[in-house]
Amino acid sequence: MDAKKVIKRDDTYVMHTYARSPIALAHGHGLQVWDANGKAYLDFTSGIGVNVLGFTDAGWVAAVTAQLNTLQHSSNLYYTAPCGKLAKKLCHRTGLDKVFFGNSGAEANEGAIKAARKYSVTTYGPRRCKVLTLCNSFHGRTLATLTATGQDAFHHDFGPFPGEFAYVPANDLAALTAALDDTVCAVMMEMVQGEGGVMALEADYAHAVAALCAEKDVLLIVDEVQTGVGRTGTFLAAQHYGLQPDIVTLAKGLGGGLPIGAVLTTNKVADTMGHGSHGSTFGGNPVICAGACAVLDKLDDAFMENVNACAHTLREGLATLPHVAAVSGLGLMVGIQLADGLQAAAVRTACEQAGLLVLTAKDRLRLLPPLCLSQAEVAQALQILGEVLAGMPVAE
Ligand SMILES: *Cc1c(COP(=O)(O)O)cnc(C)c1O
Repeated sequence: MDAKKVIKRDDTYVMHTYARSPIALAHGHGLQVWDANGKAYLDFTSGIGVNVLGFTDAGWVAAVTAQLNTLQHSSNLYYTAPCGKLAKKLCHRTGLDKVFFGNSGAEANEGAIKAARKYSVTTYGPRRCKVLTLCNSFHGRTLATLTATGQDAFHHDFGPFPGEFAYVPANDLAALTAALDDTVCAVMMEMVQGEGGVMALEADYAHAVAALCAEKDVLLIVDEVQTGVGRTGTFLAAQHYGLQPDIVTLAKGLGGGLPIGAVLTTNKVADTMGHGSHGSTFGGNPVICAGACAVLDKLDDAFMENVNACAHTLREGLATLPHVAAVSGLGLMVGIQLADGLQAAAVRTACEQAGLLVLTAKDRLRLLPPLCLSQAEVAQALQILGEVLAGMPVAE
């Protein structure tokens, strides 16, 4: 494969909505991935939190291909086994009661917003439809989830936007309390803001929000599209905080690399979503659900112990590297605040040249390694990143 040809063809025919690195990835295994020129990289991105078992995990590939050779799609007019099996596993892991499957994080959040409005409007009347979200949040790119996203930068030129969304600053309880009137149906938040800079919510604030919501029967929607499926060291990030939300959304890591989104709710909410209230042609696809079941089966206690042990070593190691001002986030969702005027994008490019794939979020460097990583791979990443940082030119 010729990397230049791959890149040129894509640039000619694919819409330029992403600023891509000039790397054409060809094949991978575990945390190793090779580009079209045969250069190897250590992957600390997981395809933005997606490939939780790394590239081409044998058990996941076997589960997906077995289902692919059996029945690839049925529509939602019929039952297939993998969909129900996955829903049961998710309910057992989260304490929630019912699942709706879609194809992406944005679609899951759309479903969550619809379910919250449906419950509140049918219970309290049509005025109760407003959704509060946090400043600096990210909830997706569809029009409703873009509106829910509390960052102006994403909004320019895409209006008019759907009504009845409002934003409050994170960790400001007075602002939330003031905004929480009887037109609000839901508060939607990420426990760790991902795209917003890898910022974990303060525990006291999260508990107070949950208590206020419970008191007023305002639904708490936790967007776990990025934080869920073990990323932060517990299955849901909400479990770190001891929270039991009314609605949780999952996507990114759930399919292990295939597209899936899920809305999980309590029976109270699900009971208002009757026949015909929502749908998705591909939602609950048996091939993807079979792969997702393999992902969940892999995430047992021993696996999660390794996630937490590696997260600990990684965070301790990062704090000692040159030009690192602070390390943020939770578990294997890591933000790195750089000192001495270093630009995250420049460090990312230098890492790529040195054979390490990393991400950025706002002005931070961001790491989302596959959850199947080893201590040796943590050490290797720290070694490369340390050398890259030590060699970066420092602003005068
Ligand atoms: C990535 C992300 C989304 C959007 O997911 P898509 O699959 O890209 O639609 C929504 N919420 C959060 C927190 C995310 O990180």
